[in-house]
Amino acid sequence: MPQGIEKRYKAKEPGTMTNEVLPKIDAFRFIETGDACSGEVPIARLERLFDRLPETMDPAEAGMLAWQVRGVHDAMGRPALEIAVEGTFPLVCQRCLQPLKWPVAQRTVVLVAPTPEALAELDDEVEQEVILGSKALEVLALVEDELLLTLPFVPKHETDCETGT
Ligand SMILES: [Zn+2]
Repeated sequence: MPQGIEKRYKAKEPGTMTNEVLPKIDAFRFIETGDACSGEVPIARLERLFDRLPETMDPAEAGMLAWQVRGVHDAMGRPALEIAVEGTFPLVCQRCLQPLKWPVAQRTVVLVAPTPEALAELDDEVEQEVILGSKALEVLALVEDELLLTLPFVPKHETDCETGT
């Protein structure tokens, strides 16, 4: 299990696709108080990532990722959320087309805009990712977004396809 991320919201067992309520946070309050929340999510819940899995793999078998979201300010003092994701994501090596366990250890600070207008303005100004803040922000959607941006499109075994390393 990845270290350093405390588990407060315990996700259900992988493969139990239910109507479980997704954890939602008040982004503005989190930033004001520096609050954080964390948990684990089965990859089986992150549907937008299914096409990155090996074709033969059942998403229910893909494992779990640990996540954490914390209210922060960036170096310029702007309201932001720090999103961390850790674990292993099964990808396909684009050289040998065999499964590849990709280590994920991502930590990103995304700016949080209070209104759609501020979002558009910030988006023009900064290179960083900007999201629209909400009092009921779905954290798993954030985690899914981060993974979509982080996972390589052309992953390859680092040293040796023969040995799968
Ligand atoms: Zn390979």
